[in-house]
Amino acid sequence: MQTGTLYTVSAPSGAGKTSLVKALVDSDSQVTVSISHTTRSMRPGEVNGVDYHFVSREEFLAMLEQDAFFEHAQVYGDNYYGTSKGSIEEILAGGRDVILEIDWQGAAQVRRLHPETVGIFILPPSQEALRERLTGRGQDDESVIERRMDQAIDEMTHYVEADYLVINDDFAQALIELGSIFTAQRQRLEKQQKRHGELLQALLRH
Ligand code: 5GP
Repeated sequence: MQTGTLYTVSAPSGAGKTSLVKALVDSDSQVTVSISHTTRSMRPGEVNGVDYHFVSREEFLAMLEQDAFFEHAQVYGDNYYGTSKGSIEEILAGGRDVILEIDWQGAAQVRRLHPETVGIFILPPSQEALRERLTGRGQDDESVIERRMDQAIDEMTHYVEADYLVINDDFAQALIELGSIFTAQRQRLEKQQKRHGELLQALLRH
């Protein structure tokens, strides 16, 4: 019985997407986040196999050749990112929800393959807050931050393609709003019919 739902969560860099998704997954055992493959280099604090599967360009292209990706995209120019088929099929088949934290290009591919996918977009409360968050990471210089601001604005233009929009002003509030999307989605009629088939039949028996 497959009742898991596929979600895409997209956001500009600096909107707090990863922290929100992590907090959600930690608090909801029904939700899993897919670990992507990427060719970008590891940032301080990141762990291979946890944050991403970090692979070389050659390895990524070989996987692409073998049709191993569910979706993939080149993000911010050079780097490849992709969701492997293996990383989501098993989880969905087990009835759990899967979140793909992917950019708008990936979300569009997933939507084409699975139109029932639920698209969520997370936005910051203002450009100033976004700039502050990008600067706050303390890992990049001014020109890198400006470039990331431009990229963030480009990514944000795609918010209209999502089904749900969460503004991450107050983290705790945004987490409640994000969680409520998953809760509501589970109560959808067709999901409940699958989950509670016997009960529904019994209730209608004269
Ligand atoms: P970062 O390098 O900051 O971790 O991620 C850069 C961008 O790549 C983010 O917008 C992130 O959502 C996106 N991204 C991460 N993994 C994937 C993936 O598997 N597929 C696609 N299409 N985008 C991804």
